[in-house]
Amino acid sequence: MKSPYFTLEHEAFRAEVRAFLDAEVVPHAARWDETGSVPPELWKSLGRRGWLGLAHPKEADGGARDLFTSVVFLEELGRTGFGGLRAAVSVHAYMATHYLARFGGPELVRTHLAPAVRGDRVSALAITEPGAGADLSGLSVTAERVGDRFVVDGVKSMVSNGMTADFLVVAVRTGPAGQGPRGATGLSLLVVDTDLPGITRVRQRTLGWRSAGTAALTFHSVQVPADRVVGRLDHGFYYLMRGLQLERLVAAVLAVGGAERALEDLCAFLRERSVAGSVLAGRQALVHRIADLSTDLAATRQLVHHTAWLYEQGGLPAVECSMAKLRATELACRVADASLQLQGSHGYMEESSAARAHRDARAATIAAGPSEVLRDLIGRDRLNRPGTPASARRA
Ligand SMILES: Cc1cc2nc3c(=O)[nH]c(=O)nc-3n(C[C@H](O)[C@H](O)[C@H](O)COP(=O)(O)OP(=O)(O)OC[C@H]3O[C@@H](n4cnc5c(N)ncnc54)[C@H](O)[C@@H]3O)c2cc1C
Repeated sequence: MKSPYFTLEHEAFRAEVRAFLDAEVVPHAARWDETGSVPPELWKSLGRRGWLGLAHPKEADGGARDLFTSVVFLEELGRTGFGGLRAAVSVHAYMATHYLARFGGPELVRTHLAPAVRGDRVSALAITEPGAGADLSGLSVTAERVGDRFVVDGVKSMVSNGMTADFLVVAVRTGPAGQGPRGATGLSLLVVDTDLPGITRVRQRTLGWRSAGTAALTFHSVQVPADRVVGRLDHGFYYLMRGLQLERLVAAVLAVGGAERALEDLCAFLRERSVAGSVLAGRQALVHRIADLSTDLAATRQLVHHTAWLYEQGGLPAVECSMAKLRATELACRVADASLQLQGSHGYMEESSAARAHRDARAATIAAGPSEVLRDLIGRDRLNRPGTPASARRA
């Protein structure tokens, strides 16, 4: 389908990314799911091509390309059909390092962002804790200022890339909780190198996203230089609220790519699988299922692209980012479910692409804001818009 958002240059880039992923990445990705992480060579390879810093500034060796170049890259990453891979790369390139690019000072750009863009160092974003996830006001990992250092204590969990990251962008409590809007004041973002004494990491085995190296990290009196604060002290909540919109948009784009792959795989199966003397692709009931899923996917893709366009205009379209993520990640679940069901026992095999799509799609309706939280935000925004009172309408 033609689109007003993509130029010939974007399409040439899409072909380049797809060819690389098909040849160099997809053949190995199932093994990475088994080993539980993507290898260092992948980071170097993506870094050499400039694909870990497409949106980052030139000062950090980034490409400073437009947002739709990233949309192309992320759609293609999603289309590989490997959720762990897409989580690992997107958390590094669009989430953890985003905070350094957007709010970090020149020194953090030099010491951490630039090596991450080159693929020399791997990053992760550590917000969630065993006791607090969707509700940031409940975060309790502390960073206490002692001389020229912060001393960090506490536990972070569900950290994608947590097993392999060289550094983390950690949400820490630097001031008292429970004040200000939504009670989330006193949060800061701190860059923490994972080789510092006092850090232990433990792998967390997850249903999907298996190559994302998910880990729980414990900080025991970890001493972090005070100049590792991202932006301003106690402004972490504000930065996270901004970064979360990009996270949700990125999750939506990846989900569209993932749904596209699951639908492609399903169509290929239906065209080939013969039951009672004819291929399944000829059964009207199944043709109509494909029609409905294709239509939903086309509509969702337009919502996601439009949201990317709004984001690029410089506003912060929080409601649209939530809508795009809600719609795309839930659709990816539905497509994956249909793909598994309509491939019968073939789809139910542990190592099948349909089973993997099913496992991986589920993660995305939870990470970066569960669907329920997004519905809350979208619904309240709608209800709070000024309108004609119902009583006046009846008159
Ligand atoms: C595969 C995966 C990878 C992840 N990667 C990272 C990562 O790299 N870094 C990181 O910091 N975190 C990561 N997370 C954590 C993720 O961001 C949290 O799971 C998410 O924020 C929800 O927090 P929680 O799991 O603690 O659930 P809780 O906050 O305990 O919520 C549990 C459930 O309650 C419901 N709920 C919560 N709040 C509301 C509400 N306001 N209204 C209605 N219902 C609500 C939702 O259904 C939610 O799923 C990852 C999660 C997954 C599944």
